Amino acid sequence: MPLKPRLEPAAAAANMAEIEPAYTPQQAKVEADRCLFCFDAPCITACPTGIDVPAFIKKIASDNLTGAGRTILEANVLGSSCARVCPTKELCEGACVLLDRDEQPIKIGRLQRHATDHVFNHSIDVLKPATKKSGKRVALIGAGPASIGCAAELVQLGHEAIVYEKKPQAGGLNTYGIAYYKLTPETSLEEVEMVRKLGVEFRCGIEVGCDISMEEILEKYDAVFLGLGLGKARSLDIPGEDLPEVFEALQFIEKFHTVPLHQVAVGQHAVIIGAGNTAIDAVSQSKRLGAESSTIVYRRGEDCMPAYDFEYDLAKNDGCEFVFNAAPVAILENDGSVEGIRLIKTEIDADGRLTQVKGSEFEIPCDMVLKASGQTKQAELLKKLLPDLKLDAAGRIQIDPKNGLTSIPKVYAGGDAANGGREVVNAVAEGKKAARGMHSFFTGDSIQGPVQPSRVGAVGSPIGSGFDKPVRVSELEAAYHKQSTEK
Ligand SMILES: Cc1cc2nc3c(=O)[nH]c(=O)nc-3n(C[C@H](O)[C@H](O)[C@H](O)COP(=O)(O)OP(=O)(O)OC[C@H]3O[C@@H](n4cnc5c(N)ncnc54)[C@H](O)[C@@H]3O)c2cc1C
Ligand code: SF4
Repeated sequence: MPLKPRLEPAAAAANMAEIEPAYTPQQAKVEADRCLFCFDAPCITACPTGIDVPAFIKKIASDNLTGAGRTILEANVLGSSCARVCPTKELCEGACVLLDRDEQPIKIGRLQRHATDHVFNHSIDVLKPATKKSGKRVALIGAGPASIGCAAELVQLGHEAIVYEKKPQAGGLNTYGIAYYKLTPETSLEEVEMVRKLGVEFRCGIEVGCDISMEEILEKYDAVFLGLGLGKARSLDIPGEDLPEVFEALQFIEKFHTVPLHQVAVGQHAVIIGAGNTAIDAVSQSKRLGAESSTIVYRRGEDCMPAYDFEYDLAKNDGCEFVFNAAPVAILENDGSVEGIRLIKTEIDADGRLTQVKGSEFEIPCDMVLKASGQTKQAELLKKLLPDLKLDAAGRIQIDPKNGLTSIPKVYAGGDAANGGREVVNAVAEGKKAARGMHSFFTGDSIQGPVQPSRVGAVGSPIGSGFDKPVRVSELEAAYHKQSTEK
């Protein structure tokens, strides 16, 4: 059966409304007042962009919302979207010392949103381009968070930044891919506009390698930043994959970022292959857009799911279903359309390998299948654009983590294309580091910080802010565990 939109406009809008609404001024004040304004704040060390969290919270507590917004955006130009999309439990909130007192951590993400919303809602320009221009021009390929982080830093350092983007709008996955109930395309485009006003030039609808050659870019510009993200979803290599109701999960998600929610065609029974963060977003959003059932199929067990726990909880609360330890064998067809999926049970054998259990095949009826078992790297495209570019065995661009420099002089990289797929905040930080690397290449000067004020001169690791070396909560816990078992 052909897919069709399933909800009226009001119901679609209500189902996809943001899951974490804005604080009222009173709520923000009460929450800000709970912060201990720690001397050696672990929340700063846990933020990959090194936002001075206690400083901005203090400003909220003293009614200086513009100052709070400035503190955030100076460290992280996409501080507004990061406030909405960061897995804060894994980052700043997970490191909050209040957890050691068995109290709720400070809701840093929501406070960050409160401050940045103030700046955007009142059109306050907290960032300024440099007045002294260097005359250096940088081309950035892809207009996602990595390139935006890089370009915004470049113009603040006095260099020109020209971003080439193949899609009609800038913002990368922030505009086209993140779950709608966390971040709307409008919020992402508001940030893009702020960066454009700062002096960054966006040339959208231009695909590098197609509409403009890499040779021309290398010839025209003083440096190049590769921020082109990841490639297509991995294929399933099973019969029926080319049926019209089988999509890449990202393609499906992109639809409701570009057409009104109530016009998005959804299956009555959706099956999503994979259990990472893209799969979990796809299963929740297809259910919220009216699918009667929406089911994740994952070849391993629940304990191996790569998706974050809080996203898994959200999907369960949405009524999504889960089939673990099963792999797809074929997508079943009736009259040219999907009518089900055949699966086979899997298990871990004595050698620890994932194997299929003979004779255990079973079928689930469905009319839409979304593929979300990982995205491929951009290796093929990169080899075509820059044959000498060094990639690692996993197809990621090899860079110097301190400055983003690749194996090719004057070519820098960051974000998903280099780290293999992490978070928005990592992409912004890597873009910013690359901008500083280019600045150093152009001028010989190096830029410090943001450095955690209370850490200046301190010996031992971790040092500085998370911008130097972000420490994830799981790493902090492992170090703590090691320390206590060694005692
Ligand atoms: C479904 C999904 C949900 C996610 N949810 C979250 C979340 O909740 N929180 C979070 O922190 N992170 C999330 N992420 C991860 C996050 O979106 C990425 O880590 C981040 O967007 C990476 O930024 P980037 O700039 O490296 O790449 P992208 O955002 O992918 O941007 C790359 C850009 O390059 C463009 N491009 C590619 N090739 C060319 C070319 N040849 N010429 C011109 N332009 C080109 C692309 O069109 C794209 O706009 C999610 C990812 C996915 C897929
Ligand atoms: S760790 Fe928690 S209490 Fe301490 S400064 Fe950061 S947010 Fe405030």
